[in-house]
Amino acid sequence: MPRRFPLWPPVPDAVAGGRAAADVRWMRRALEEARAAGDAGDVPVGAIVVHDGREIVAARNRMVQDHDATAHAEMLAIRGAAVAGGDARLGGCTLYVTLEPCAMCAGAIVLARLDRVVFAAWDDKAGFAGSVGDVLRHPRLNHRPEVQGGVLEEEAAELLRAFFRDRRVPATEVGALSGGTDVPR
Ligand SMILES: [Zn+2]
Repeated sequence: MPRRFPLWPPVPDAVAGGRAAADVRWMRRALEEARAAGDAGDVPVGAIVVHDGREIVAARNRMVQDHDATAHAEMLAIRGAAVAGGDARLGGCTLYVTLEPCAMCAGAIVLARLDRVVFAAWDDKAGFAGSVGDVLRHPRLNHRPEVQGGVLEEEAAELLRAFFRDRRVPATEVGALSGGTDVPR
């Protein structure tokens, strides 16, 4: 099991401290998007792409709304930022996301060559930035973004917990409602 590294590679305290306030501010923006996703009936995950201190794109999970298993917030944010910048490569950009990226999104982050990824809650079941595996910092891949996990972790995790708590239905009804499948992520 790979170890979790909240911050990697290590950066000097002065640099990390200078970024901390901005990271919290942008994560609050991402959390607004996450809440909007939850209000629309999707699992509440939001993402923002920032370049030179400016928001390039904001996106939210739209899996249920779009009937698309790949419509994760990070995928939509990466596509939107690429269109906005006229370039598939997002060097110089930071992605803020409220949940640890899954394998698909971590793969897309590497392909898009994002400089930095900052996420909030860890995802023990599907996270590929250190929980289940680590695509973002895989030694064999030729691009490894800087990764910072756990920014506003508790806020993001509580948003997810509340979403699933509100939707919990008696076990006897689950089969009838979902055809016996698990609650979608
Ligand atoms: Zn994903």
